[in-house]
Amino acid sequence: MKNEKMSKISVIGTGYVGLVTGACLSEFGHRVICLDINQKKIEDLRNGIIPIYEPGLDDVVAKNYQSGRLEFTTDYKTAVCTSDVIFIAVGTPPQDDGSADLEYVLSAAREIAENMDSYKVIVDKSTVPVGTGQLVKRTVREVLEKRNVTINFDVVSNPEFLREGAAVNDFMHPERIVVGSESTKSEEVMREVYRVLYLNNHPFVFTNIETAEIIKYASNAFLATKITFINEISRLCEAAGGDVQQVSKAMGLDKRIGKFFLHAGPGYGGSCFPKDTKALVHIGKQYGLDMSVVNSVIFANHAQKLLMVDKIIAKMGELRNKKIAILGLAFKPGTDDMREAPSITIIQELYKRGAKITVFDPVAMENAKLYAFSGMDIQFAENEYSAVDEAQALVLLTEWNQFRSLDMGLLKEKMKDRYFFDFRNIYDRKELEEQGFIYDGVGK
Ligand code: NAD
Repeated sequence: MKNEKMSKISVIGTGYVGLVTGACLSEFGHRVICLDINQKKIEDLRNGIIPIYEPGLDDVVAKNYQSGRLEFTTDYKTAVCTSDVIFIAVGTPPQDDGSADLEYVLSAAREIAENMDSYKVIVDKSTVPVGTGQLVKRTVREVLEKRNVTINFDVVSNPEFLREGAAVNDFMHPERIVVGSESTKSEEVMREVYRVLYLNNHPFVFTNIETAEIIKYASNAFLATKITFINEISRLCEAAGGDVQQVSKAMGLDKRIGKFFLHAGPGYGGSCFPKDTKALVHIGKQYGLDMSVVNSVIFANHAQKLLMVDKIIAKMGELRNKKIAILGLAFKPGTDDMREAPSITIIQELYKRGAKITVFDPVAMENAKLYAFSGMDIQFAENEYSAVDEAQALVLLTEWNQFRSLDMGLLKEKMKDRYFFDFRNIYDRKELEEQGFIYDGVGK
């Protein structure tokens, strides 16, 4: 792909990863077509409506759409025929047995094969089990054989490591770019795609497809393990009189350990760690391997969410008809993504025990209403202070900045009882107890 006749890139799937990838690649100067089968999403994007909450994404999309470098379509023929490089960034949700559902990836691969008319580099950006690159290759080949045409193509694995809430920055300034390929030609194409990052000396790992696929799952499983490990230590701290925040701080100062993903809390959630850990265990099984570390992480993480409910009961006793205010629903600040948020399990458990729940989240309320709590009699408050009106307890589940300096006087005025469950450890026990709250955090 030479600069003087810069070719188009298309990105299949305009979710958290696809839209960020498409928008940022257009920001790098490429001409990009983003495709989705969801017509409404594409219409919204053409009208300047961003379907997800992701800080800074609206500006990048607007700027590049207006300049004509970024387009949106539902038409595979347009996207495939005019592109040399086609990213697959569709979802790979978990199936009942924990395995990743490849239906969307393979459907995208078939559509590409139905429409391709010249050499293409098909890049798998979705998180997929090892072996999927080869499966995509076979799928494309089968369709081409059926079409009775001979067209060359390469499949590349280029897993994505962006974090929701910081996705644009992560894509523009990645800590590494992993490219798994089988030909120098496709490797060269990928160097051109990421030319800006390559010239700026961002670290690249060029490897084979299988290794690239494993790198993604190994990275996510490791981070999930780190969180789960410190959660386990938090239980020991509670039992033995330690303070997990000081343990984390001291551990994190050791460069071999590092300070990130070492905060005790209500368990990990989100669209990646829960599904990717389960998928990794499933992949292991297919190779006759017992991924026992990751398996115990999955169990321990579920237990951690339930432990939060036990902590509430331990302080408040029977929950029937007790009014509980939940602050924060998203699995972390900076996103409206409700997939596998710990709040879902915790709220469902409190609800089952008869608690009256009022919730507030700055951006995830719509998704929560639609996908997490439909059919449940839950109140959605206007803001953090109306949420605690007459509440007996406040449970803080997401550390949004606006929850970090709550007006304690106002809370006391509004709340009926003063139970304060700070499951993100953002407040000081002593200070809150001095204010008259009955405080509990995680591991301290
Ligand atoms: P998402 O659900 O937000 O978006 C997927 C999009 O693909 C949807 O808009 C859907 O309509 C579209 N789609 C489905 N089938 C299609 C098809 N056949 N053709 C065209 N479009 C189709 O998913 P996401 O969160 O962006 O995740 C995508 C992949 O990236 C997953 O494999 C995920 O594990 C991985 N990933 C996600 C993140 C993250 O933070 N969300 C980070 C790294 C990697």
